[in-house]
Amino acid sequence: MSGQALLRLQSIVKKFGDFTALDNIDLEINEGEFFTIVGPSGSGKSTLIRLLVGMDDVTSGQILLNGDRIDQTPANLRPTCMVFQSLALFPHMSVGQNIEFPLKLRKEDPSARRTRALELLDLLRLPRDYYDKRISQCSGGERQRVALARALAFDPEILFFDEPLSALDYRLRKTLEKELKDLHARTGKTFVYITHSLEEAMVMSDRIAIMKDGRFEQIAVADEIYGRPVSRFVAEFMGEVNLFELSADGSGALSSDILTIREGTRLDALAQGQHGLLMVRPEYVRFAAPGENYDFTLSGKLHGEYALGSRIQYELETPSGMVTVEKLREDRLNAHEGDTVAVGFNADVTHFIGDAA
Ligand code: ATP
Repeated sequence: MSGQALLRLQSIVKKFGDFTALDNIDLEINEGEFFTIVGPSGSGKSTLIRLLVGMDDVTSGQILLNGDRIDQTPANLRPTCMVFQSLALFPHMSVGQNIEFPLKLRKEDPSARRTRALELLDLLRLPRDYYDKRISQCSGGERQRVALARALAFDPEILFFDEPLSALDYRLRKTLEKELKDLHARTGKTFVYITHSLEEAMVMSDRIAIMKDGRFEQIAVADEIYGRPVSRFVAEFMGEVNLFELSADGSGALSSDILTIREGTRLDALAQGQHGLLMVRPEYVRFAAPGENYDFTLSGKLHGEYALGSRIQYELETPSGMVTVEKLREDRLNAHEGDTVAVGFNADVTHFIGDAA
């Protein structure tokens, strides 16, 4: 990452009639970055990407690429390229013809086109003899790679991806996530990716933007968003989470309706008289053995036990709702549904979200 903003969005608004799909968005994406936009259905991800590639017009605001305005530039003249979930390959053409398509548009001569297509097959780790293969003879993963090769043949400044992996099965998706991350590193291109899948975003991205109702709720590296979400929405969107209302009185002493708090426990993030949400991820909650002390404890009835492959998730019914605990399979709890169990955690594994809303 060079640190220079390649793409800059200033006060972008997109309205469909009275409905505001994008609500005054500002964003900077750096050259060479793998930037992912995640958000629930209807949050505005596709609308935003359509504006960036020129498939739709902004209502107001500016899009700058390398400092030049491109929001009025027709899609075919923008140095960007989009990879769709549907891939949009030409089924009647061969793999080679598909990859060469952008080069043909640029009127490059046939031998140069073929050379470049073969290089791109190498780059995407497809055998060179796929050059003559029909698209209809390729598997889903191979088609995905051909679509990527064709996108790279445009030699765009930015590649946009609109949920390209969502139609594939789990294993293939996992393989392609890693391949895309690797391809990003090898090409040094700027990738802007949209997805519903948080896991996908976490595996691949340099930074992630969480979108909600046409705005960015938080933009940060994955660890920051997971560990230090700015709001309940981001905390809950980024996987399982436990949130407890907490306040500090005039002397800074903490109080909660549900948690038992060890005397003297303080949270730097919580100022005197303030109130908010204490967050702890399930993997940081411990089952408390008798006599074990934690800054925060509570007890509840074991409600459910769910196997998640290498981990086991427990749900505890408490007066403030369900509390989720996650353990490695080897640390499985020796208790039965309906048993009352105590859990605890210390302040250093928590995060505080101010202004509980
Ligand atoms: P998904 O993940 O389901 O694709 P998204 O986050 O990409 O969702 P968008 O497709 O960008 O969401 O839609 C954002 C909002 O704008 C939605 O409420 C949608 O109904 C609305 N919208 C999108 N396109 C149009 C349109 N052409 N006319 C009217 N409303 C639209």
